[in-house]
Amino acid sequence: MGGLIPMDVGLLLAAGVLSLLWGVTLRACWQHTYQRLQRGEVVSWGWLLACALVLGFGLWSAMLACLGALQLDNIPLVLPPGSLIKSLLIVAGLHALVFGVAPFMPPESKRRSAIAVLLAMVSTIGAALSMQYMIGSLHLAPPGHLGWPGRIGLLILCLSASALNYRQIGNRWRGGLVSGAFYGLVLVLCLQLTSWARPIYYIGGRDALTISWLAIPLAMAGLISMSTLLGSTWLQRLKMRLSSRPLPVVTPDTGEVEALAEATAREMVEDRKRRDALYDRVLRHSAVRFWGFDVLGRQFQFRGDLSLNEPLSATDVVINTEEWFEAHLHPEEAEPLQKQVLAQLAAKGSFDCMHRLRARAQEDVWRWVIARATVVRRDAMGQPTYVVGTHIDVTEHGELQAALDRDSRLFSDGPIVMIRWRFDIETVRATDLGFISPNIEKLWGYNLDEMHQFSNWENIIDASDMQGIGKKVQDALSSGLSEISHEFRVRLKDGRLLWHSLFARIEADDDGGAISGFIVDIDSFKRVEQRSQEQARQLEELIEELQRAKEETVILRESSEFLNSAETLDEAFNIISRAAYAIFPSWSGALASSQDNDRLKLVGRWGEAQEFNTEFSSGDCWALRRGRAHHFVDERISLRCRHVHAATGEQPRPYLCIPMSANGENVGSLHLMASRSLNKDQMLPLAQRANRLGETLKLALSNLRLRAGLREQATHDALTGLYNRRFMNDRLPVEIKRCARDGEQLALAMIDVDNFKHFNDQHGHDAGDAVLRALGELLRQRVRVYDLACRYGGEELALIMPGCGMEHAEIKLEAIRSEVAAMTLMFNGMPLPPVTISVGLAETQGGEAEALLKTADERLYHAKRTGRNRIVTRLEHRPPEPGPSTEAGALNA
Ligand code: GH3
Ligand code: MG
Ligand code: MG
Repeated sequence: MGGLIPMDVGLLLAAGVLSLLWGVTLRACWQHTYQRLQRGEVVSWGWLLACALVLGFGLWSAMLACLGALQLDNIPLVLPPGSLIKSLLIVAGLHALVFGVAPFMPPESKRRSAIAVLLAMVSTIGAALSMQYMIGSLHLAPPGHLGWPGRIGLLILCLSASALNYRQIGNRWRGGLVSGAFYGLVLVLCLQLTSWARPIYYIGGRDALTISWLAIPLAMAGLISMSTLLGSTWLQRLKMRLSSRPLPVVTPDTGEVEALAEATAREMVEDRKRRDALYDRVLRHSAVRFWGFDVLGRQFQFRGDLSLNEPLSATDVVINTEEWFEAHLHPEEAEPLQKQVLAQLAAKGSFDCMHRLRARAQEDVWRWVIARATVVRRDAMGQPTYVVGTHIDVTEHGELQAALDRDSRLFSDGPIVMIRWRFDIETVRATDLGFISPNIEKLWGYNLDEMHQFSNWENIIDASDMQGIGKKVQDALSSGLSEISHEFRVRLKDGRLLWHSLFARIEADDDGGAISGFIVDIDSFKRVEQRSQEQARQLEELIEELQRAKEETVILRESSEFLNSAETLDEAFNIISRAAYAIFPSWSGALASSQDNDRLKLVGRWGEAQEFNTEFSSGDCWALRRGRAHHFVDERISLRCRHVHAATGEQPRPYLCIPMSANGENVGSLHLMASRSLNKDQMLPLAQRANRLGETLKLALSNLRLRAGLREQATHDALTGLYNRRFMNDRLPVEIKRCARDGEQLALAMIDVDNFKHFNDQHGHDAGDAVLRALGELLRQRVRVYDLACRYGGEELALIMPGCGMEHAEIKLEAIRSEVAAMTLMFNGMPLPPVTISVGLAETQGGEAEALLKTADERLYHAKRTGRNRIVTRLEHRPPEPGPSTEAGALNA
């Protein structure tokens, strides 16, 4: 054993050049033969033979060169480690060269890294092959050196190495095992065969001729192996073609054969054209697009153009990967898909995949497509290098799916809250929130943790609403119903209070009850409903208002009519209070009458109108001060009248004050108190009605006042305010008759002032008038309501006393007489002397008025004659009595 000598180098170089030539030739043969076989095309026997020869010869010459380089002058078993390593390196290098140019190199490779990978791969393969050779050679060791168990062991090792080697090449265990074992067996067999030729063991002389001679049977062995491999593939393809098309019948005639061959060739061309046309038609009109993806070149190749709604054109379209993802796919799917594809390509595993995505058909038109892809080519490391796939237009289906997706999103992302909770059957209180859909966070703003704490629910749902739900559940349980619905308000995290509706199903079991259902936001719907209810209510109110206005007009007209017929204020007040009650039925009220010196006094009251003071001055009421109706709503917006009181710290209910004036003079006021609190808007129409009532009253009262004035003038005496003589003449017979009907007496007193002419003379006519006025007032005050005091004429007065007998009348007149006599009047700051009166008193029961007057007159005359200042009840002589007034007595004298 020695180192490598120059001869060795020469031999190695020769082997290298040989290998290189062999590799190039093999690649050419391979490209022609193997690829055609792959495509299922027919390969001529010549090519197959050439291929097999090249492969076999190349391999064996390389191996023999190795053996030569190892200088096998000894049994390899005892090779020192240095020589072993050296020989391994040489063979590895050789095979690196061989396979470096061999067809295993990916022609598509454009990456630098791929060359490094390739180098690593071919080194491994080379090393494995050399191991194989070494072990194969060892197997050939003479029986003296190695027993049969050793040989079999080595054989197994050789087969295993081959198997491993081909697994490495083919990336498949089964293929690797079969081809490795086959190749190994052929190797061992060939070595066994060559071992018959002894010189192989003694190559020491490096007899090139011996090597060449040996190469022939070895090449033959390679031919057998290669042709078996390739032939089997070709036969398989041939069989397929035979099954699809009958073979033409070949007759011994050469011309016929040629014609037939020509016809067959033509037929094949036609057939091919037909198939292409059909294929093209199918492509053009189907919703399927075919494409390929060059992984390393990062390109998509489309058969036909891209527009999915246009028939395909025959030209292929090539699009850069990035451009494809960015410009031709919908952004929603493009990005995740790109990531997924890249990850899948890097993962090296199976790539068969399917995606649903939107591809651009036109500028703004997207078509739903289902993209399927599968890897058709990988590099030696198993990385996919070419992917083919289809796009199937499923827009209609896609839109359906999108709708379905939207439906399913309704529950996860949509406006419906799904909920399920357990509750205690007895108390109906919630015990456990089983489920609530996560969209609650988006819809209500609460996170799931917050929702699962029931203590928070008090803030979210109002207690009364919560009770409402509980009651619905209770009712449903007791009536055997299983479904409930309830409207309630939800307080959102941001504080908004929105109406929601719960639709749920109740299930009861041994552990309690469970409610499951959904909650929907009905706030806007509810608002519309509330608004329409409000509008309906307003419309109803309007109709009611119109109706009321109509009724009110009737009431006011009737009241006006009654007021026009009223004779006194009392009657008028009665009519007014009834009208007010009819117009404001639910209100309480009070009626005040004007007294002297601007005071008013309540003369009637109905309902609960306790807040109005019973007496007040006109300055206390804003209505009386302003001469128009006044309304009070509450202290903040209205002025409160002083005559209205309320409990300390409280304010009165809303009220209305209506002045009652006649010809600019206040005769009284009407006050109305609401039964409940009102707002300003509610009060305004009421105030308007009150104003209308006030105006009507004003008119009617003015008429009343006018009529009363005329009546007064017709029946009363202006100076004394007593009835006049005409009135007396009219009434006396009536009163006599009325008393007679009732079985009663009527007394008549004729009163005359004594020596009044003299009084006038003494003190002046005005003083006399003052005396007459004072007498009239005194009479009015001292007589009963049904007595009629009249001025009969001049200084002569009369008093009609119905239902009064002589006896009582005398007592009354006597009292008046003495009061007059004792009366001192002030006139112009000076006291006037008292006057006396003489009275003639008569009575009757059903008699004539004239007769009664006459009797009374006679008795008055008698009183004058008998000394004045006295009462005469019968015409009998009575001695004159001294009068109480000395002056009077003096005058009489
Ligand atoms: P006798 O006691 O007899 O009645 O005496 P006399 O002076 O009152 O009676 P006579 O009938 O002579 O006088 C009536 C007087 O009453 C005449 C008139 O001056 C006076 N008199 C009548 N009417 C009025 C009146 O309206 N005002 C005033 N001041 N005096 C009147
Ligand atoms: Mg007289
Ligand atoms: Mg007189």
